[in-house]
Amino acid sequence: MNAGSSSIKTALFDDDLTEVLRIEATGIGGTGHLSVDTCGQDANLPDNAAALAAIFNALVQRGVTLKALRAVAHRVVHGGTTLTATTRITPDVRQAIADCVPLAPLHNLHHLAAIDAVATLAPDLPQCASFDTAFHATIPDIARRYALPDIPGLADLQRYGFHGISYAALVRALPQQSGTLPKRLLACHLGNGASLCAILDGQSVATTMGYSPLSGLTMGTRAGEIDAGAVLRLVRQLGPDQTERLLHNHAGLLGLSNLSPDMRTLENSDSPKARIAIDHFCYWASRQAGSMIAAMGGLDAVAFTGGIGENSAMIRNTILDKLSWMGNFPHYTVKAQEEVQIARDARALLNA
Ligand code: ADP
Repeated sequence: MNAGSSSIKTALFDDDLTEVLRIEATGIGGTGHLSVDTCGQDANLPDNAAALAAIFNALVQRGVTLKALRAVAHRVVHGGTTLTATTRITPDVRQAIADCVPLAPLHNLHHLAAIDAVATLAPDLPQCASFDTAFHATIPDIARRYALPDIPGLADLQRYGFHGISYAALVRALPQQSGTLPKRLLACHLGNGASLCAILDGQSVATTMGYSPLSGLTMGTRAGEIDAGAVLRLVRQLGPDQTERLLHNHAGLLGLSNLSPDMRTLENSDSPKARIAIDHFCYWASRQAGSMIAAMGGLDAVAFTGGIGENSAMIRNTILDKLSWMGNFPHYTVKAQEEVQIARDARALLNA
């Protein structure tokens, strides 16, 4: 289950991890829509609880009773410093996820709403959480720390990194293509959100996102790397709320192109601004790749995943071309498999 601000996306897996069904509630709080696999219909979804009730109802209509479910496994964006592995959601873990709300206000609140709604609808159903930050728990302190003094109450102001569920799935899936896992692997998750990860011997040692998913690469609507001084100027001129909306929702590919956050739309456009947005994306991906390569002391392979990474040969080739100074190295494309990774982690936990 992946619960966001206006959508709840679910996938149902058999015990052998075969995907059986996909149910998605979108437009929660507005014009609601419920889709079951490829069939969609409008639905009255005023809030998360209504959306979950509609999802469970759709399950029952497909012959899957709540009793038949073994667990609900949630994607949780932020696990902070303490939640660094998939875990059963106990009252203490729920509290720890709530404690991370200030770290990821746009995400963790919605995960909690879904967790609470499931607990109300099916109190006996075990719930688990997998964290997007967890894969990066291996990042060394020097890469984790910002160069700030110790400030009381702000010890959690550090680099966490995200897309960890996708990177964990990639590390698992890649050897099917590459034989053994490359020692120094540059992993590129390029979707609406985008990041790079330096994976040394299967473990994250550096990543381009930091305290929040705002930093690093140019993204669909997020600015990526931006000088803190520029952010302070924005806050002074626009105020904190408008700055937050600008950096999260109106920057990145959308801001540069003034057309769309969607890479496919930009690739199909002949607008000069769309070209600039694509060039910006590839230039900064390759520049930040240099930083990841330095963190690993070299490069043995590159792997792409995410909607752009999987589907756009043009973007992959442009980035690879800009890394040709590294010499020859193999490169791979891996389908993002976050849902099955969450199900796999939950199954391992429940079987333990
Ligand atoms: P999210 O981060 O929301 O999960 P995805 O991983 O689905 O996003 O990636 C969405 C991005 O992938 C969009 O920018 C979309 O345009 C891009 N994309 C999907 N297919 C293609 C394609 N064939 N060519 C270029 N970009 C594509």
